[in-house]
Amino acid sequence: MKRIALIAHDEKKSVMIEFAKKNRDLLRECDLVATGTTGKLINEEVGLPVERMESGPLGGDQMIGAEIAKERVDGVIFLRDPLTAQPHEPDITALLRVCDVHNTPLATNVATADIILHGIIEKE
Ligand code: PGA
Repeated sequence: MKRIALIAHDEKKSVMIEFAKKNRDLLRECDLVATGTTGKLINEEVGLPVERMESGPLGGDQMIGAEIAKERVDGVIFLRDPLTAQPHEPDITALLRVCDVHNTPLATNVATADIILHGIIEKE
């Protein structure tokens, strides 16, 4: 089963929920891991099982980064808010970096998220 990491900043959480609802059947075929609040919302509002890490500002981004470094993640959907400064900006930069180090597909908006999700599933 493919493992996908999901992270959304506060201003993008509603976008993530819409994305997850639209792709519920595809996401059901994957193991999902997410930062704390994003995972809680996807579980409660979309009904998908999610392995939840800490909330992003409490280290959740780093926990997902560690999974990427261990090559246990097949793709990352990280809906960032480009307009608001985040308290854990260094962790976010580190997460993007570790994706590039390990050649892990990373989407930072829904347009690429769609492409990555379909690409990952089709490769199976
Ligand atoms: P959250 O973390 O899902 O716990 O809100 C996301 C983030 O800010 O990185």
